[in-house]
Amino acid sequence: MESSNQYLMQTYVRSPVSFECGRGSWLWDTAGNRYLDALGGIAVAILGHAHPQVAAAIADQARTLLHTSNLYDIPLQRRLGERLCRLSGMDRAFFCNSGAEANEAAIKIARRFGHQKGIDKPAILVADGAFHGRTLATLSATGNRKVQAGFEPLVAGFKRVPFNDLDSVRQLGHRAQDVVGIFVEPIQGEGGVNIPDTGYLSGLRELCDANDWLLMVDEIQTGMCRTGKWFAYQHEGIGPDVATVAKALGNGIPIGACLARGRAAEVLVPGSHGSTFGGNPFACRVGLTVLDVLEQDRLAERAAALGARILDALQQRLAGFNSVRAIRGRGLMIGVEFDRPCTELVSIALNERILVNVTAGTVLRLLPPLIFTDEEAEMLVNGVVAVIEQFEKDRVP
Ligand SMILES: *Cc1c(COP(=O)(O)O)cnc(C)c1O
Repeated sequence: MESSNQYLMQTYVRSPVSFECGRGSWLWDTAGNRYLDALGGIAVAILGHAHPQVAAAIADQARTLLHTSNLYDIPLQRRLGERLCRLSGMDRAFFCNSGAEANEAAIKIARRFGHQKGIDKPAILVADGAFHGRTLATLSATGNRKVQAGFEPLVAGFKRVPFNDLDSVRQLGHRAQDVVGIFVEPIQGEGGVNIPDTGYLSGLRELCDANDWLLMVDEIQTGMCRTGKWFAYQHEGIGPDVATVAKALGNGIPIGACLARGRAAEVLVPGSHGSTFGGNPFACRVGLTVLDVLEQDRLAERAAALGARILDALQQRLAGFNSVRAIRGRGLMIGVEFDRPCTELVSIALNERILVNVTAGTVLRLLPPLIFTDEEAEMLVNGVVAVIEQFEKDRVP
């Protein structure tokens, strides 16, 4: 019998569809219809659905050992920490279970770093349009009033600056004594796939060095090869002091990590932070397997090449559409911005059996799995063009 959702808190507006199974870039609903998944559970299913290597690792680890707690040595956690540090250029990892938790760890590191320098009320610079999560500290860091409204008082200690604006950060450097770091997404995801100018991150790196601030980068959506490099900051050849990852790291198994380098990696000590589930053998085994597949199938290169082709095709095919304001992307993180709210694109696409998302009200966002084939990419471009055609036709003149 169908059950209703009356026993669920009404926190989500859901599309009227439920999926029963998935394989690769495809999902099947309960009526047997097949959908092309160009969203991957919001940048999570980076290897698609039911990936055989991931499924095998999950089954094997479930039969072996799930959880022991951080009261004991966890070899799989040590191995995943080492792999992530080598890929990111960082020194140490702290494991948790979600993006917001990874960012909480980053915020705690920055505050404690400040206190160690004798700053009583440390402040972290955060950007307009940022999204860092839904816990109290991370929603306070988020630059979107809708996420914060009704949850005041907000956590103190954040100072807001415009995104992609080095001058405003530079000015604060001269004035503010209590700043201890800056926390930004290398490309804003929820904010609308906003790509800063080349030189923004390296400029922030210089300002952080000049002011003895920590550069903290939220790679929860952009990390794990999504943009064509393991981490988006690597496009600028810089190293942050702190980087957070989650979403794609477990391909659907909840896991997050806060990575840190140099002094930032030494701030948290026994008793200062922790997690019951964080870094358990199960999640770490899955994370290691995801890294194996990303590496063995060279999916960073694949994301860069395929993403460039999709972007190019969209730019050509959407050139004549007057509701399209901009088309932008890096790797397989792509946004099409419209001149008006476009949330109905989600249901039009659903009718066409394509899963996409609209963020920031006016931006169609594509976050397909990195295992997308050439043929699937072509289907996606054709589908998106057809969906936008319909959207424009429906427009009341
Ligand atoms: C999704 C996301 C988060 C929050 O992750 P959760 O796992 O939902 O807590 C934080 N930062 C960015 C950039 C994200 O995209």
